[in-house]
This record gives sequence, C-alpha cells and structure tokens, in this order.
Amino acid sequence: MLVAFLQYEDLVCFRDIRPGAQHHYLVVPIEHMGNCKTLKKDHIPLVGKMMEAGKNILQQNNFTDLNDIRMGFHWPPFCSVSHLHLHVLAPVSQLGFLSRMIYRINSYWFVTAEQLIEQLQNENAAS
Ligand SMILES: [Zn+2]
Repeated sequence: MLVAFLQYEDLVCFRDIRPGAQHHYLVVPIEHMGNCKTLKKDHIPLVGKMMEAGKNILQQNNFTDLNDIRMGFHWPPFCSVSHLHLHVLAPVSQLGFLSRMIYRINSYWFVTAEQLIEQLQNENAAS
C-alpha cells in the first residue's frame, strides 16, 4: 500500500497533490520557515533532515534507487507556496518534459537540496 503521509517531530511529508513523477512528495517543516532564500547556515541540519525524510518516504514506498531521485526547492519568486517545501521526485529517469523543466537542475527557478546546502555553507564563509 502507498504511504502517502509521514509525520515527524518537526516535519511532515506527504504526496504532492499534482504529482510530477511516479513518486512525488513534499517535505515541509511544521514551523513556518518562509522560503529557501530566507534560510541561513543554521538551517543546514534542517535541510539535511528534510532530505532524510524524503528518502525515507521513498523507501517506504519501495523506491530504493537513490541515484534516480531529485530533491530540491523552487527558488523565489518561482514558488507558488510561501511555506518552505522540499520536492522529492522519483524516478528522475522517467520524468516527463514538463517536470524536467519545472524541476530542472541548475536553473534559476529550482535549486537541488545539495546545491542549497553548499550555498548556505559558502554564505558564511563569504561574509
Ligand atoms: Zn514548489
């Protein structure tokens, strides 16, 4: 049976209502966080937790090829929801044209979780 919802102490994880892939989940912190532009270096552990939760719901739904997943955030203003949410999509190898555009790596509207963590790490080093 499909696991469509998981709740953690400080996160919830649920299936996207408009799935862009066979597996498409959103991970959302319970506490309001704004968007990924307002995140600071202190939020790196939170982003890491969100990624873990994303992998977890995939595994619970029997999707185990972690090389074939994409996790990331929409970069403001290309984000219709102002509450921070991580997109978790799989399998990436089967994404349709539209999803490949909407969740495109290295675009100015989508940032992968890994890239975001890297940016947050560099942010403090620069200032
Ligand atoms: Zn989004």
